[in-house]
Amino acid sequence: MAESSTARQTRATIHVAGEWLAAISGATREILDPADARPFAVVAEGDEKDADSAVAAARQAFDDGPWPRTPVAERAALLRRVADLLVRDREALGRLEAQDAGKTVEEGRIDVDCVADAFRYFADLVAAEAPGRVVDAGSPDVHSVVVHEPVGVCALITPWNYPLLQASWKIAPALAAGDTFVVKPSEITPMTTVALIGLLAEAGLPAGVANLVTGPGHTVGARLAEHPDVDLVSFTGGLASGTAVAQAAAPSVKKVALELGGKNPNVVFADACATEEGFDTAVDQALNAAFVHSGQVCSAGGRLIVEESVRERFVAELARRAERIRIGRGTEDGVEVGPLVSERQRAKTEAYVASALAEGAVLRCGGRRPGPAHERPGSGYFYEPTVLDGCHREMRVVREEVFGPVLTVETFTTEDEAVRLANDTEYGLAGAVWTADPGRARRVAARLRHGTVWINDFHPYLPQAEWGGFGKSGTGRELGPAGLAEYRETKHVYQNLAPKPVRWFAG
Ligand code: NAD
Repeated sequence: MAESSTARQTRATIHVAGEWLAAISGATREILDPADARPFAVVAEGDEKDADSAVAAARQAFDDGPWPRTPVAERAALLRRVADLLVRDREALGRLEAQDAGKTVEEGRIDVDCVADAFRYFADLVAAEAPGRVVDAGSPDVHSVVVHEPVGVCALITPWNYPLLQASWKIAPALAAGDTFVVKPSEITPMTTVALIGLLAEAGLPAGVANLVTGPGHTVGARLAEHPDVDLVSFTGGLASGTAVAQAAAPSVKKVALELGGKNPNVVFADACATEEGFDTAVDQALNAAFVHSGQVCSAGGRLIVEESVRERFVAELARRAERIRIGRGTEDGVEVGPLVSERQRAKTEAYVASALAEGAVLRCGGRRPGPAHERPGSGYFYEPTVLDGCHREMRVVREEVFGPVLTVETFTTEDEAVRLANDTEYGLAGAVWTADPGRARRVAARLRHGTVWINDFHPYLPQAEWGGFGKSGTGRELGPAGLAEYRETKHVYQNLAPKPVRWFAG
């Protein structure tokens, strides 16, 4: 991480054509540690001009540079070198992510592992591919082949909850495909993306292939989305910004991939709780689904939909355990949950809880900032894991994404009702079903309108399996073969081996 550390010290966190630069305007931004609301780094605050210069560098590297024409084996080898460098810097990157995004160091380390896995996965995927698909054109005189080519210059816009992971789910397939890119991390959590760009250079990526502009969404992000020299915009973030990106991209008819929010149901049937072990597992995983990273997870299981006959026992145990979650600075030993990422995010969470209580929800635990030490302004954006019982779909807290440590509880009495509730959302990112009945598990999984369905589990994902949403959770997919296809164009090459006149026109 030597290069990126230097970049931080000089506030030159914009990377264009292989150079670390300050913002053209000279503007900077302080990056706050959400555990104490104090600045721990300063970065360049880019704007539209920096975005334009980064796109120009990426365009030139794509049109004239070696990367799109580099043999696949060499591209794959570079991706594997990046994975090795990530493993080398695992501890430093994990800590930096914890400090920047407010997660625990262990979560930060796991993120780095997952990111290294993603780089290796896309390296293996392209290395194993056939160079094209030969099509039977129905004539021995025709050779017809379908090939995949890099899409071109990609704009990659990422959120603050998994900064390194979300950037890598875009950067790894873009590089594997032979694209060049400009990445714009969230303005409040750019640090590990800056570090990653340093690792790409260290791994030997040619200058101009990977460009980075730190700065806000409404300037840098909006310019990248509308830029006529950008061929694809891949965005991960909230619904409102995603809609704005799609609108900005439309006039230039570029490819658009959107990974947006979720309102993810966790459906628990009574039969899953029939044994003590089953009950304990379902409660434990419901806790994990809702409260890991303080619920700031796009696939967080924030909607518990539990069969009425086990509700009271289930919710009582859930609340008992939620109250014991150890909250604190993520870089301290023994801490299980860190702060929310910003004052804005905590205020949003508090507003959702207040509206739920006003609409009749019953507070079973949490619903406040923890301990006197955390109530002082400026002492970190902590909020207690909160369980709201007696919820129903008309409540805002049930319909809208909270992105905080808030679990709502709804109940059902029949399988049909459970499915109806689980699908009663404008989103469709992920959902889970807990049952001891294999037939029911398959029936319910088949009826859920969500991009990922877990049966008797919550949260795992695999780099080889597509990730993305139905409905307003987005368009397109990340990871898996479809996650690589996003970064490509498809071309049909039809070669006539024995050309002769067609004589359509007689004259
Ligand atoms: P956000 O939408 O506020 O910001 C995301 C990114 O978009 C940031 O880099 C931001 O600067 C930029 N941006 C904002 N407005 C823009 C505009 N008009 N044009 C271009 N760029 C713009 O989201 P956030 O608050 O950073 O992240 C939380 C959201 O991300 C949640 O809704 C969460 O569900 C979603 N998310 C989805 C996934 C997924 O895989 N589906 C993963 C992680 C996060």
